Amino acid sequence: MKCPTCGKPAEWKDNPFRPFCSERCQLVDLGRWVEGEYRVPGEPLPRDPNEPPPSEHDLEKDV
Ligand SMILES: [Zn+2]
Repeated sequence: MKCPTCGKPAEWKDNPFRPFCSERCQLVDLGRWVEGEYRVPGEPLPRDPNEPPPSEHDLEKDV
């Protein structure tokens, strides 16, 4: 079994990351399709959940 990410022979037995050879290769592959799936042109990066979004009150204050 070859690792789909790096093409090296991957251990199948007792390998939690199969068909990848390592966690690293698994994450690389996962990140690849997640990016392709969710990438939206012009979409800003997800906000820090701890940071509240700017409220309309704050905007009105500056006007
Ligand atoms: Zn690999």
